[in-house]
Amino acid sequence: MPQQTYDVVIVGGGHNGLTAAAYLSRAGLSVLLLERSGHLGGASVSAEAFPGMGARLSRYSYLVSLLPRQIIDDLGLRITLRRRRYSSYTPQPGTERGLLIDHGDPQATRASFEGLGAGADIEGWDRLYARTSRLAQALWPTVTGPLPRRRDVDALVGDSSITRDFLERPLGEVIETSVADDLVRGVVLTDGLISTYASAHDVDLQQNVCFLYHVIGGGTGDWDVPVGGMGAVSGALEEAAHRGGAQLCTDSEVTSLGDGSVTWRNAAGDESSAAARQVLWAAAPGVLDRVMGNEPEQRAEGAQVKVNLLLSRLPRLRDATVPSDAAFGGTFHINETYTQLETAYRAALSGALPQPVPAEIYCHSITDPSILSPQLQESGAHTLTVFALQTPDRLLDGADLDTARTTYERAVLDSLSSVLAEPVEDVVLTMPDGRPCIETKTTRDLQDALAMPGGNIFHGPLSWPFAEDDEALTGAAARWGVTSAYDGVLLAGAGSRRGGGVSGLGGYHAARAILEARAD
Ligand SMILES: Cc1cc2nc3c(=O)[nH]c(=O)nc-3n(C[C@H](O)[C@H](O)[C@H](O)COP(=O)(O)OP(=O)(O)OC[C@H]3O[C@@H](n4cnc5c(N)ncnc54)[C@H](O)[C@@H]3O)c2cc1C
Repeated sequence: MPQQTYDVVIVGGGHNGLTAAAYLSRAGLSVLLLERSGHLGGASVSAEAFPGMGARLSRYSYLVSLLPRQIIDDLGLRITLRRRRYSSYTPQPGTERGLLIDHGDPQATRASFEGLGAGADIEGWDRLYARTSRLAQALWPTVTGPLPRRRDVDALVGDSSITRDFLERPLGEVIETSVADDLVRGVVLTDGLISTYASAHDVDLQQNVCFLYHVIGGGTGDWDVPVGGMGAVSGALEEAAHRGGAQLCTDSEVTSLGDGSVTWRNAAGDESSAAARQVLWAAAPGVLDRVMGNEPEQRAEGAQVKVNLLLSRLPRLRDATVPSDAAFGGTFHINETYTQLETAYRAALSGALPQPVPAEIYCHSITDPSILSPQLQESGAHTLTVFALQTPDRLLDGADLDTARTTYERAVLDSLSSVLAEPVEDVVLTMPDGRPCIETKTTRDLQDALAMPGGNIFHGPLSWPFAEDDEALTGAAARWGVTSAYDGVLLAGAGSRRGGGVSGLGGYHAARAILEARAD
């Protein structure tokens, strides 16, 4: 039978693949999207993680900052992103105090700094974030255009001390010259360590790149709650791709590419193929290498443990001055002082799981109860998501995964309980079969479930969102930052130049590159 020919075949049905499918099909191209697993959305999905309980959690990714308004408007996505009332709460380990950063109340934030004995840092903190705000306002509008050059960024920011400090010097230097308190320094550093195993002073600046993506989103750096959970975001993208006429196939794992042909296999092992004028790779670049018969050049390594919990109520804090719904209403940092983050980095370097494991928590159901059944809402139940840092995938080399998962889960729960007035287990709900509502995902679990090599949530190390001044940017794919190592294949996922996180940018940039090249 002759192969069917498509203008574009997209490999990977995560939110980026869906974004590309929506843009390209709406532009009139014939589009086939192939997704290996049984459902669409990739790392942007909601799931009944605890069967029979009535809670649909954002199973992997949970907050949105990097999805541009332009993509929402272009594709007519019906989604609501809700601002959280509080920015963060960080208990001081071993004490009954903590730092509450309250968006809505600068006076309360000031009092919290002072209560911690860190009043002298208020000015440095404000200045640091005024400087990141300058970066955000300059860089954010560029993300929906072709890659800017570094010199463009300098001109847009208009203050070379800011670009030098954040783009050229290890993040640790700017933190240490801005604020003095160990806990305050730690709160800043955490944004540089999301799925990024690093020390504040690493000279490769991966922690700076990660930090940058965490402070520029929307021009404000706010991280908002997707109402209905992350599945609502990928669901809206799926609908847009459907409306455009894209053909979306699950249970279709691409096994080879070449000479304009794409071959995939279903769960029963049956193979199919199609001809493609253009292939977009919206899965991890490391998987592309393997499909092309090559070993990836560098190891893609995540550095987090993710634990989802369903609780009968919010736990009580050791710090009685802060209500639980305020502490859990923003990002709750546990054991993330600057010293603890560095100690954890060194422990992992020596091959040990950090103890206590630094982690941040987020409670979806405070800002958006709609993910809970009416009964759970009435009962006062809440979801918690814990995202632990400085736990690189290499720690699992040669380990028995089940044993390691149990050890990691214990470490995360102990870390959490260390800042509570009661063990967290006391408020964990149990499923009808008697198991506790706790779901733990190591980097290896993510690799298995999502084909994210090494559990790296960005598909590999993040890249600066600009090109160097002397970099050749020949052709539409290079200008949009979506070239791959292989002819005829463009990157369209998190592993593209500016694609990490829930942003749709990988898919959007690849679609723009294709449409631009066709117009030439
Ligand atoms: C635990 C966790 C927490 C996170 N938290 C956040 C957060 O709060 N906010 C945020 O912005 N980002 C977060 N992220 C990162 C963000 O979710 C990802 O960077 C983003 O979702 C990647 O989207 P994508 O579409 O590029 O790729 P993915 O979502 O990874 O989708 C790629 C798809 O390709 C499929 N695939 C792989 N190989 C093949 C093949 N051979 N053939 C066919 N299909 C294939 C996979 O099954 C997968 O569905 C988190 C990620 C994780 C894992």
